[in-house]
Amino acid sequence: MITAVAAARAILTSLHEVMASRAGAQAKLNQIVDVIGAKLDSEVCSIYLLREGMLELFATRGLNQTAVHVTRMAVGEGLVGTIAANVETLNLAEAAAHPDFAFFPETGEERFHSFAGVPIVRRARSVGVLCVQHAEPRRYDEVEIEALQTVAMVLSELIANAELIDAEDALGGGPQMTGHARITGLTLVKGLASGVAVFHQPRITIEHVVAEDTEAERQRVYLAFDKMREQIDRMASQAEFGSGGEHEEVLQTYRMFAYDEGWSRRINEAIDSGLTAEAAIERVQQRTRMRMRQIDDPLLADRMHDLEDLSNRLLRIVSGQLGTAATSGLKGDAILIARNLGPAELLEYDRRRLKGVILEEGSLTAHVVIVARAMGVPVIGRMRALRGRVREGDQLLIDGDQGVVDVRPAPSLIEAFEARFAKNRERQAHYTAMRDVEPISRDGQRIAVLMNAGLRDDLPMLSLAGADGIGLFRTEFQFLVSATLPARERQTRLYRDVLEAAGDRPVVFRTVDIGGDKVLPYLRHNEGEAEENPAMGWRALRVALERDGLLKVQARALIEAAGGRTLNVMFPMVTEPWEFDAAKAVFERQLTFLRLRKRLLPEAIRYGAMLEVPALAECLDILAPRLSFLSIGTNDLTQFLFAADRSNPKLAERYDWLSPAILRFLRRAVEAVRPFGTDITVCGEMGGRRLEALALLGLGITRLSITPAAIGPIKELVRKVDLVAIRAAMAGWLADPPHDMRATLAVWAAEHDIESD
Ligand code: PEP
Ligand code: MG
Repeated sequence: MITAVAAARAILTSLHEVMASRAGAQAKLNQIVDVIGAKLDSEVCSIYLLREGMLELFATRGLNQTAVHVTRMAVGEGLVGTIAANVETLNLAEAAAHPDFAFFPETGEERFHSFAGVPIVRRARSVGVLCVQHAEPRRYDEVEIEALQTVAMVLSELIANAELIDAEDALGGGPQMTGHARITGLTLVKGLASGVAVFHQPRITIEHVVAEDTEAERQRVYLAFDKMREQIDRMASQAEFGSGGEHEEVLQTYRMFAYDEGWSRRINEAIDSGLTAEAAIERVQQRTRMRMRQIDDPLLADRMHDLEDLSNRLLRIVSGQLGTAATSGLKGDAILIARNLGPAELLEYDRRRLKGVILEEGSLTAHVVIVARAMGVPVIGRMRALRGRVREGDQLLIDGDQGVVDVRPAPSLIEAFEARFAKNRERQAHYTAMRDVEPISRDGQRIAVLMNAGLRDDLPMLSLAGADGIGLFRTEFQFLVSATLPARERQTRLYRDVLEAAGDRPVVFRTVDIGGDKVLPYLRHNEGEAEENPAMGWRALRVALERDGLLKVQARALIEAAGGRTLNVMFPMVTEPWEFDAAKAVFERQLTFLRLRKRLLPEAIRYGAMLEVPALAECLDILAPRLSFLSIGTNDLTQFLFAADRSNPKLAERYDWLSPAILRFLRRAVEAVRPFGTDITVCGEMGGRRLEALALLGLGITRLSITPAAIGPIKELVRKVDLVAIRAAMAGWLADPPHDMRATLAVWAAEHDIESD
C-alpha cells in the first residue's frame, strides 16, 4: 500500500519542478492542479484563493474552465467557505448531503459526489482551499488527505511569494479568529489598557517549505531535538521550575513530549515527504491541532497546549529565531501576552509602550505581577481561553477592574471604553490632587502611607503620589535587570539617586532578596543542586549570609550612598534572631572599615527585619529589642502560613488575606512587639487594597508601604476611618469570626462611606 509519505513525496517532487520553473504564478497553479489530480487519481482538483475577502476559484482540473476567476464565495459559504472559516479539513462521500453544501452551477460540479478539501494556511489563517472531487461516492483515505495537507503547505509558500492573495491584514481566519470575543480571567493588577496584541514569544515565520536536501533537514531536526531536550532537562534543574505544583506538572509533560519517539518519528516522516525541517514540525503540529479539535476534553486540551509550546520551541531552535518580542522592540501601544513571565523578562520591555499584560497563568503575589503593579501596568491572569482566539496585532482592550479582555472590539465598545478611560483619568487626577493631603484618620491619628519601589523609574512617583517615603526598596530589582552582578559603584549610584529623590523622606533599603521566583541567571547554586521548594530554599538572607561577599559589597554601597544621612536597612526572610545579628555584623564591619578610611558615614544606621517567616513571630520578644523597626511582608508570610506557593496559579484564589488565621496572626505579632515600641510597617501587597488596609488599621497597624497606584485610594480611605471604631469592630470579629470576614468588612466599609475594591 502506498504510504502518506510516499504519496506526498511523489507530489512534492513534481511540484518542486513546477515551482522552480520560470512560468508565471497562474501557469504554475494550473500545472499544480494537474499534478495533484493525476497523482491522486482524482477527477477534479481545484484551488480557491482569498482575494478581496472572497474565495475565488483560481485553478481547476475537472471543473469548467469558464468558472475560473468567476466562481467566488464568502468565507463560511458552501463547503469551500466552511473549510476556510473553520481552518478544517472536510472529507465527504456525498458532498450534497452536507448542511453547508452550496451549488455553483457554472462549475459543472453536479456530476461529482465525493469531496475532500483542506485549508491552505498561512500564519494560522486560511488563505485558500485545495480540494479534490470524484464522481463516485467514496471517502478519501487518510493517505490522500495527508498528502493534500502537505501540498497545501507548499501552496501557501507559493501563493504568498507570488502575492496572489490578500495582504496579511485583510485576511480572514477561523471563526475564533475573527469578530469580537470577550474572555474572562483573574485580575492581577487593576486598570484599563488598550493596545495591540504582542506575543512574548512570537510566531515563527516559515520561509521555505520544500527541502533542497532531505538529509540536511533531518540533521537539523536531530540537532534541534538534542538542544530542546537539553533545555528541558536544564529547566528541571532550575529553581523556578522545581517548585512543585503546576510548574512541575508542565515540566513532566514537556519531558514526556520531548522524548516522545512518536513525535520525532512523525516529523521525520514529514521530512521524508520532502518538507524542510521547519515545515515538517509545523505540518505535524497542524495535524495534531486538527485531531484535537474533535476531542472535547479540557485536560487533554491543556496538554496539547504544552505540546504546542514545545513545538514552537523546537521551531525557534531549528529556525534560529530565538528572541522574544522584547528583542525586536514594541512598535506602538502593546498588550503583551505570555504563558508566564519572570520579573526580569517583563522589565526588558519598553515601559512607555507596554500598556498591559495578559498571562495564561500568573498569581497575585508573583514577582512579575508586583513589578507590573509598580509599573502601573494592568495584568489579567489565568487566561487559558485566550489560546487560538487572539492573533498578533489584534486590537485588545484590557479591563483590569473586571478581569475581562475584549478582542477585536467593535467601535461602539472602544467608545465606551474611552469614556471609562476618561473617568479613570479623572479619578487619577483626583488622587493626584490629594498628594499633599495628609492621611489623618477621622479621630485624628496620622497614618504613615509609604511607597514600595525598586527601580530608578519608580522615583518620580514618590512626589506624584505624595508618599511619606519609601517603606520598601527592593534592591534585587537592579540585580534582576542586569545581565551580570551589578558592580558596587553602580549600586552606590542607584542608592544615592534614590536618597536624593526622597529628600527628607525616609527610605528603607531591603538587602537583596533573590531566589524563589526571582532567579538570577548569573547566580546559580552549584550545578545539580536543584531545589524542590525554592520559595523555602536558598534565598534572601540565606544566600546573603552564605555568600557574604554579595552582602559586603551591598553594605558598602549603601553606607557610602547614605553618607551624612540616616540609613535604614532591612533584612528579608529573617527566620531566627541570630540571622539578623549576623547580617547586621556584616554592615558594622563595613562601617568600621570605612570609618578607618575616613569616608563620610551615615549619621545613623537603623536596622530592621522583615517578618515573613512565621517562625520569627514566636521570637519577636527576643528580636524586637535589637530592632529599630519591623516590616511585615504579608506576601511571603501568607504563603508560609497557608502552605500555599505564592506563584502557583492554581492556588491564586484559594485563600483570602482577610481570613481570621492571617488577621489573628498579625494581631499577635503587633501585640508581641508593642511593649518595645518598635515601629511596625506592613509592606506586602495586602496593604494596598482597601478592605485589607481597613483590616490592618483595625489591627493597630499605623504604617503601610504600598504600591504607588494605591497611595491615593488608601489615603482617602484613612481619612474616612475612625480608628477607634474599626479597632473595636475588629476585636469583636477576631474573637468570634464571622462566616465571611470579607463580606463583613465590606458591609462595615459601606456603612462608613468607604469604597471596597
Ligand atoms: C513580602 O513578602 O510581603 C514582601 C514585601 O517581599 P517580596 O514581595 O519582595 O517577597
Ligand atoms: Mg518577601
